[in-house]
Amino acid sequence: MSLPVPVRLNYGPMRMRLYETAPTLEVSSGLLDGDLCGIYDAARDVIIIDRRMTYTRKRCTLVHELVHRAHGDIGHQRELRCRLQTALLLVDRDAYIQAERMYEGDRWLIADELDLTVDVIDDYRLLLRYEGVGR
Ligand SMILES: [Zn+2]
Repeated sequence: MSLPVPVRLNYGPMRMRLYETAPTLEVSSGLLDGDLCGIYDAARDVIIIDRRMTYTRKRCTLVHELVHRAHGDIGHQRELRCRLQTALLLVDRDAYIQAERMYEGDRWLIADELDLTVDVIDDYRLLLRYEGVGR
């Protein structure tokens, strides 16, 4: 699976890049119901990002929706796979290990240091646990 943009980009530049690399995709801002951060409409090739969020959360959400798009998921279909792949894409392993040591495992401080949401950090930790099981 590959995304049409480098995930290291910030939210604004990522959206700009998508105009060139995914011309059929429309990304727009809107107000979504409940605690929904974003949604991908596969039929129309449209991603809607809730506009009330921080840029950090918008970036993480956009990557999440791009992963759904890459798999051709309908809405939040196969959510766990999407979340784990999103965490794998967004978290730099070395930076995570360094932050984990520096902040003694405090997930909020680690998220802040890596400019990611706590949700992404939690999903990354889930991945590390799975890895541990495989050893
Ligand atoms: Zn999802």
